[in-house]
Amino acid sequence: MNAPDDFHALRRRVRLSGQLVTRTGLRIGAGQHGDADAVDLPVLRDADGYPFIPGASIKGVVRSTVESLVRGLGQPEREAAVHPWWACNPTEKKGGCGDVGRGDREAMSVDAHCVVCRLFGSHLLSSHVRFSDALALDRDDPPPIELRDGVGIDRDLRTVSGALKYDFQVVAPGTRFGLEVFVDNGEDWMLGLLAVAFDQLDHGFAALGGFTSRGLGRVNLGWSELLEVEPKGLLGGKSFEPVRGADVESRFATWRRALTQAVEEHV
Ligand SMILES: [Zn+2]
Repeated sequence: MNAPDDFHALRRRVRLSGQLVTRTGLRIGAGQHGDADAVDLPVLRDADGYPFIPGASIKGVVRSTVESLVRGLGQPEREAAVHPWWACNPTEKKGGCGDVGRGDREAMSVDAHCVVCRLFGSHLLSSHVRFSDALALDRDDPPPIELRDGVGIDRDLRTVSGALKYDFQVVAPGTRFGLEVFVDNGEDWMLGLLAVAFDQLDHGFAALGGFTSRGLGRVNLGWSELLEVEPKGLLGGKSFEPVRGADVESRFATWRRALTQAVEEHV
């Protein structure tokens, strides 16, 4: 694996579009303020009152999924320069990616980063991947939001306490959201990592949003369009173009093969 993480030159930009459909309730909280609903825990809504999923939330779950998969390979000795197939703990200052203890110049280099930070970025590296906010596709009235009862358990008495009862909103099962992912200068193995993480989410092994331990946040993902643009096209005034002779499925297969090969070579 080489490490062509130079963002000074845009060599390739991939845009994947598709749909996310909720299979269970989905809870992306709006916090406690600025919502007129008399609900303890409202969901996030766009300006028209329809739920949406921030791109950062989708990226977060995809990143943590990739992290757990990479950790499953076993954490090698910290020789990242020859073996990037490890995942740092982003909350750990010492020994993590971009550890300044190793000297500024060294810490700044791509080689000092784990495969997860190389793909999704760190405080020192740009991300190859960007998710747009996913907006609800169906603009039915009323918006697809359901109210659920929550019950708090008193941690000391281990009983249900009346005072701890609360309601929370969820996005209804069956709600469709538009998905859009951009990958800049992504190597095929990087796209392969994304493809595998998308599978995990689609198969219910990873979940989105809050209250996932109660079974919320299960979604299906489907990809319908793959477009690519190269600098020559951009400078020539073109936007994205379909990849010639390649449907989405066959491209995903190519990326998965590249991932398998990269892992076999380095682990
Ligand atoms: Zn890292």
